[in-house]
Amino acid sequence: MASCEGGAPAIGIDLGTTYSCVAVWKNNRIEIIPNDQGNRTTPSCVAFTDSQRLVGDGAKNQIARNPANTIFNAKRLIGRRFSDVMVQEDVKLMPFRAIEGPGDMPKVVVTHKGHERQFSTEEISSMVLAKMKEIAEAYIGCTVKNAVITVPAYFNDCQRQATKDAATIAGLNVVRMINEPTAAAIAYGVDNRFGGKKNVLIFDLGGGTFDVSLLTIDGVGKFEVKAVAGDTHLGGENFDNRMVNYCVDDFKKKWNKDLSGNQRALGRLKVACEKAKRILSYDTQVSVELDVLLDGIDFSLKITRAKFEELNKSFFEECIKQLETCLVDANMYKGDVDEVILVGGSTRIQKVQSMLQEFFDGKELRKSINPDEAVAYGAAVMASNLCCQLTTKMIKDLMLLDVTPLSLGRGVRGERMSVVIRRNTPIPTKKTKNYYITEDNKTYSNIKVYQGERTRSTDNFLLGSFTISGIPPAPKGSYLSVVEHCFEIDADGILTVTAKIVSTGKTKSLTVTNLSGRLSKHEIEKMVKDAEKFKLEDQKFKRKAEACNSLEDYIYDLKNKIKRKYMAPQDLKNVQNAIDDTEEWLSSGKVAAVDEIERRKEMLEFISRLAFSN
Ligand code: AMP
Repeated sequence: MASCEGGAPAIGIDLGTTYSCVAVWKNNRIEIIPNDQGNRTTPSCVAFTDSQRLVGDGAKNQIARNPANTIFNAKRLIGRRFSDVMVQEDVKLMPFRAIEGPGDMPKVVVTHKGHERQFSTEEISSMVLAKMKEIAEAYIGCTVKNAVITVPAYFNDCQRQATKDAATIAGLNVVRMINEPTAAAIAYGVDNRFGGKKNVLIFDLGGGTFDVSLLTIDGVGKFEVKAVAGDTHLGGENFDNRMVNYCVDDFKKKWNKDLSGNQRALGRLKVACEKAKRILSYDTQVSVELDVLLDGIDFSLKITRAKFEELNKSFFEECIKQLETCLVDANMYKGDVDEVILVGGSTRIQKVQSMLQEFFDGKELRKSINPDEAVAYGAAVMASNLCCQLTTKMIKDLMLLDVTPLSLGRGVRGERMSVVIRRNTPIPTKKTKNYYITEDNKTYSNIKVYQGERTRSTDNFLLGSFTISGIPPAPKGSYLSVVEHCFEIDADGILTVTAKIVSTGKTKSLTVTNLSGRLSKHEIEKMVKDAEKFKLEDQKFKRKAEACNSLEDYIYDLKNKIKRKYMAPQDLKNVQNAIDDTEEWLSSGKVAAVDEIERRKEMLEFISRLAFSN
């Protein structure tokens, strides 16, 4: 492949769960690049056969014949642990084999050219990305290196890093990873030139996932994600499956035969139902027809749009429920939303559009950009912007503000969570906080980095830990023992925690990338909900931890004071006994109520006051 004169353009890639799309800035506009089949989106699908490896349409077209060796939905597994509950649920539904690889990473097992082979999810995604790179190169006519890749707003560090790794394997240099809703908003922001500040709702219903996000966009191109909600298992495939089940029931009624055990028949039915669903977006009825579906029987069934809507009613209702959650989380009423942007192929469904329009009291929905192309479109705008290929003032000024979905901090004395970066802080961001050593002469600090909203650190998600040693021996609280903690999240959402002993300058860092622990969107939602649910309990825990810390601090000060100040031997003995008693009680694990801790402290204060006044 030749190299481009004046440098190859940077491309934007929407790496989707079911379909991917690539776009580029060319001829003074964004162009969605068609693949070798002339399709503007490419199935995120990789197949292995006896003679070759297929990616995209070729892979999808042979899925019914070769389900065990056709890998799709890799995005559901990437950057997650195999033991993750969600992965386990997904794996059960996948027609191919997924196993636990080293380090609890999922691997898929296929037969390729007669041999069993294992691939990581990064490798599978890299094959899809390489295909998108190839599609772009064929269109542009030279080698492409730089790309902006989009990821769901709720992807955690590990999922982002794994996606980046997949791109590297594919020979791409990721100039920026941006959130999908942000990319869609950029696409419309550029197209429609919003004036002034706008609240924009991105309703993204794709093939396997549903994401609803609220962003604010100001007139100069600043994007801020206010809230995200959705369902990682809601999308076009659910609608297809309901149709498939309807057909299976019909077949059973008519022929008293069960299709559901026959993978090949089911696969053919699924493909036919997906096609039929698309037709129902512009026609009011469709016929699902398949020759020789099972035991020589031909299948034919008429499905109306009304029937399709009835079959999927619960899914559509769930979409509205998630939409309401997003508004509540963003602290907004539906009347505050200025623009509603449709993203994802499934937003072409008439019912989805009418329901949404009704919810927003008749508001016009933004759908001028193809819903399955808007994310790649925005990514290409960003790519051109970052690689300085655009001159438009508006695009040049483009700034992005995404947010951290959960608070980040470290565990401190009494198992408390000390937050450094608050939930919903726009990223990239960098925050520092100083911590003192809480024991005399302690020369190291074990830093446990947590993510979550709970007051007790151990109720949160442990991202990783590291120890910084070499702290000069000093009394607790001394400036010599100050360790500055810097939490930095880069534009790709990757966290680096750096600890620095201020008095010596020594530093140690932790980068949260390939950690053993990962959080799914579902888990994030659960953690935020739990924080709400356990608010009272957390408040109690906090008060108790603070009371304990205050009592410990008092004892510490008192011990120092009795060393420095003279008192009569009997008084000294009384104070020492009281200290010993309290310390023993504190370490006995019998500490129960806050009142009791406070009473112990008052008692100690009383005894010491008495001793010092004598
Ligand atoms: P995406 O992941 O955004 O590419 O969306 C893919 C999903 O959109 C698939 O489930 C498709 O079946 C669905 N889809 C695409 N076009 C239509 C349409 N015209 N009507 C209904 N669903 C569609």
